[in-house]
Formats: sequence, structure tokens, C-alpha cells
Amino acid sequence: MQTCGVNERLRDYITRCVAFHTSPAPGLIIGAFMTDYALELLGAVPGEKLFAVCETPKCLPDAPQVIANCTTGNNRLKVLPIGKFALTVNRASDNPTSEGVRVYIDREKLKKFPVIDIWYANNPKFDKHSMGLLLQEEIFRNGRDILSTERVRVPVRQKQKWKPVDCPSCGESIPDYMILDGKCGACGSMNYYEKIDK
Ligand SMILES: [Zn+2]
Repeated sequence: MQTCGVNERLRDYITRCVAFHTSPAPGLIIGAFMTDYALELLGAVPGEKLFAVCETPKCLPDAPQVIANCTTGNNRLKVLPIGKFALTVNRASDNPTSEGVRVYIDREKLKKFPVIDIWYANNPKFDKHSMGLLLQEEIFRNGRDILSTERVRVPVRQKQKWKPVDCPSCGESIPDYMILDGKCGACGSMNYYEKIDK
């Protein structure tokens, strides 16, 4: 990383992200550049109370989790399955909205970086085995140059008041505002398991 001109702060971010993610995935490394850029534009530092939205579940969400402590568990990270490699970071606010920064991979800028370009486009010409290191080096050297940014306004997530109710289908208790179409998500549209008789 050092020989590719990655500064010390980013090297630290990337090292910690890779350890957390358990592999040096290209999207994760770009995510570290994106989070770093967003923090800089916000004038924020790690440790501040920040909120993040990732527009893809692939790799990217681990970067704000590790670098900015926006985690799914502390409810400061939202992952939307939109399919864009984009990240928005904003500060906490007592107002109904907060101004933040959206950072995204800019396809136009990718034209200057052929390896990242074909990897990002899922082009069959990209061969992971022969081009993986080349891709990593191109990201290290140009991580920020493939990104564009914009100022955005986002709604502030307020804590909801709730009382427990029993799902009429399974009988398990959930907050009242989580009832969908008269039942809990697991009995409805979010069902993800079937019971096994033992
Ligand atoms: Zn239920």
C-alpha cells in the first residue's frame, strides 16, 4: 500500500477493514476510500456519532462499520439493496433532517482506470487470478479519483415509541409497529425458515 502512495490514515483503515471482513475484497477497499472521503467532506472524525446508508449489501457496509462505528447493531447503519456502489454519511441531528455527503463510484471517471472499470462492470474480460493484484494496485493508487460526491439531505431516524403485541399467527411478541398485514414479518413477507420436526 505504501509504495502505491496510500497515506498512513487510509492504510490503517484498510488494514482494519480487511481483518474485519476477512478478505481484501476490492469493494471493501474502495469502501474504505469512500468512508474516508465522506468523513473528510463532513469535517468529521472517527468516534463522532455518525449515520451511514450503503446502497449495496456487497462489501461496502463493512467500511463504515469499522471506520466510523456505524453498525447494524447500533442502528447507525442502514443497508439498502439498491445495487449502487454508493454511501451516504451524516451527523446526528435534533432536526427532522440532516445534511450529509453521498459518495459514489463514478462510471465516467472509471474510464481512466481500465482494470477497475472492467471489474466494476462485471466484464468477463476481468480475470480474478491474473488481474487481482493489478486491480488492487489500481485501487490503492487511484481510490479517490474514481469517486464523485454530492451534498444531500436525509431524514433523521427518530426512535419510535412502541408496546409489545403477540403475533396472531406464531404467538411470539414483537413491537406493535412491526406488525405487517396482521402478522409478524417471519409469518409474512419476511419468512426465511421452516420448522423441522425432530
Ligand atoms: Zn408470527
